[in-house]
Amino acid sequence: MKLNIKDTFNKELSADPNHNNTRRQVFEAAYSYATPRTPSKPNLLHVSDEMLEAIGLAEEDKHSKAFLHVFSGAKVIENTAPYAMCYGGHQFGSWAGQLGDGRAINLTEVEHDNKSWTLQLKGAGETPYSRSADGLAVLRSSVREHLCSEAMYHLGVPTTRSLSLSLTGDQVLRDVLYDGNAAYEKGAVVCRVAPSFIRFGNFQIFAARRDMKNLKKLTDYTIRHFFPNVEAGTKEGYAQFFQEVAKRTLDMIIHWQRVGFVHGVMNTDNMSILGLTIDYGPYGWLEGYDENWTPNTTDAQGKRYRFSYQGRMALWNLLQLGNALVQLTENTKPLQDVLEKFQAQYSEKYTAMMRQKLGFQTEREEDEEMIRELEKMLQLTETDMTIFFRNLAHISRDAKTAEGETFLEPIMQAFYKPAEVKDEMLKKWLLWFDKYLNRLKEENISDNERRVLMNTVNPKYVLRNYMAQLAIDKADKGDYSLIDELYQMLKKPYDEQPKNEKWFAKRPEWARHKVGCSMLSCSS
Ligand code: AMP
Ligand code: MG
Repeated sequence: MKLNIKDTFNKELSADPNHNNTRRQVFEAAYSYATPRTPSKPNLLHVSDEMLEAIGLAEEDKHSKAFLHVFSGAKVIENTAPYAMCYGGHQFGSWAGQLGDGRAINLTEVEHDNKSWTLQLKGAGETPYSRSADGLAVLRSSVREHLCSEAMYHLGVPTTRSLSLSLTGDQVLRDVLYDGNAAYEKGAVVCRVAPSFIRFGNFQIFAARRDMKNLKKLTDYTIRHFFPNVEAGTKEGYAQFFQEVAKRTLDMIIHWQRVGFVHGVMNTDNMSILGLTIDYGPYGWLEGYDENWTPNTTDAQGKRYRFSYQGRMALWNLLQLGNALVQLTENTKPLQDVLEKFQAQYSEKYTAMMRQKLGFQTEREEDEEMIRELEKMLQLTETDMTIFFRNLAHISRDAKTAEGETFLEPIMQAFYKPAEVKDEMLKKWLLWFDKYLNRLKEENISDNERRVLMNTVNPKYVLRNYMAQLAIDKADKGDYSLIDELYQMLKKPYDEQPKNEKWFAKRPEWARHKVGCSMLSCSS
């Protein structure tokens, strides 16, 4: 197995001089050296062939001992120096101080095809940042992270990626519902891959400690490597950097809203500086469209990270990043300007995205009103988001609402209780569709052309919460086939795949209140 090693983070930024693996506050350093823990019986369960190729490896590498050893943590790659990053963060609105990679260890950076990738093990043991936890991860959360990273990428959502999923052979104690019923689960390691895993919190920790030297070093490093259009080392450049981060973050959130993804823990330590979806924990997919839904039981009270709040939470997080970067710009004005524009830009991009979902190629002022009405309609009775938008493309613009519900057939499939859609509610839907059909008549494209376009933004297949859970339940019993089946299907989420039609279905009733399907916790 030959990787083209090109380390930069641990070469260009400050190292923690203490090499002991003891838990501590780490000052004036961007990272601490950390060696992955040796798994007792590593077992490779799944590899993303695309990521294998992306980092410059071949099919036969996947079957090598070296691959298993490196990506389960058993062996360190020659001439590399694995490390855990130091970062802080605001958790659920409060400053939490130093957090850091408590169970993530960056192995190395590789370059292939002119692209740089950081390889990072998640769940490979403790680091100086593990605080009171064990540095490990369980199979359940690792399957979820591995599958969802790859699925999101293929949906066109900016995201970190996942190369591999392994069992460690060790048992890990977890209290899933934090109710005193801890149980042993299988330990697992995922190898995550991204150009960088730097988070808002990496900047925040230096700013909080008034460590100007390292704040500047980290910012200049980030700009030089990942923001080619921004000038490093100047106040104007730092402001421009902030603007670019805000733009990337905004674009990412619009994609989340488009596909119905709820992150669940948008703390500033879980916000990638590159605008990538990062840290797949208690995330979830909207099944019944519900703007107040959050998958995270830890967030059930305040619902801070509910579906419809993701834009404003991103803005709140950007404000915290701005508070850190102001130490470099020494001027709040340019940063404030970026924040002030965010809301309007969000509305504009959100509307543009929804127009695409509805199949409008042109812009009309009344679209916003129609979108708002639709969002309300979708919540009158439980309506599956994915099925609704996918099947909307089947409605002909020449349909006649006067003929009652027959033309609504494809939409009926999206309702969890179609029998409820009668009388007043049916009238409301017909009224909305009246406007919608008239609006479609203003577009100069045929039903077929519109369907093709709509099918590029409205996925047919997403990783519904219960699907991941089925794969987990099987994997727990030693059957890993569903992991690959879902992985393969989710590579082409916008295609019709007749053999996978069974996955284009509403969530089954058994999954409605099941742990792992509708209720997820941070315990992973
Ligand atoms: P999260 O909410 O999962 O993003 O984690 C917040 C912080 O807790 C991060 O610093 C993580 O590295 C750390 N953390 C989460 N789980 C563990 C674990 N099992 N062992 C050590 N650190 C952890
Ligand atoms: Mg995290």
